[in-house]
Amino acid sequence: MGDANCPSCADCSAGNCSRLDKSFPGFCPTVKMGADAVESCVAKYTENPVDHKIAITSAQIESDFYCSATRAEEILIFAKRMGYEKVGVASCLGLIRECGLFARAARARGVNLYGVACKIGAVDKTRIGLEEERKLVPHSHESMCNPIMQAETLNREGTDFNVIIGLCVGHDTLFIKHSKAPVTYLIVKDRVLCHNPAAALYNMDSYYSRLLRPDRQ
Ligand code: SF4
Repeated sequence: MGDANCPSCADCSAGNCSRLDKSFPGFCPTVKMGADAVESCVAKYTENPVDHKIAITSAQIESDFYCSATRAEEILIFAKRMGYEKVGVASCLGLIRECGLFARAARARGVNLYGVACKIGAVDKTRIGLEEERKLVPHSHESMCNPIMQAETLNREGTDFNVIIGLCVGHDTLFIKHSKAPVTYLIVKDRVLCHNPAAALYNMDSYYSRLLRPDRQ
């Protein structure tokens, strides 16, 4: 078990890794990992042509559209520049309207898009062991989120790149784990905050101070 209070980048106020205009703190992972680790990681970008293209394309988009392209635009620009022929979307059924809007934008820009909703397969939640009483409406058919089938459907469709729209925490983890194509996010689900999870952090010293309470787990 690691030390939960071990200082890391999460505790850094220097950010010297960005422009080398300050000093590295003593706990800095750049220092701890050492120069060999830095060089070994740099080599991986150039040794693997796919990783290299992803890294360069992403950096070029940052340069070309810094603070001017929205994330939806960035994803479509990235897909075009990467030469992806088919983009998959793994969407929450509750956000299927947003999935459709994104499909409209994608198709308007000539991006071929194939979307799959989280309830695909229509498998009842109890089939994988969830207790009946834990359904939102017990004693009715309630389909489980099926991120493995979403991934396998997109794998079979041969998508080159997959986009997540609002999958639940954990379901998104399984989708990423089972997706053959690389994955990015368009919408991160937050049912309470209209899909803006950062809002809880910004208000952690006021309205969302409950985040600091260990009894809420
Ligand atoms: S890598 Fe080092 S300098 Fe950069 S944020 Fe982490 S601790 Fe700070």
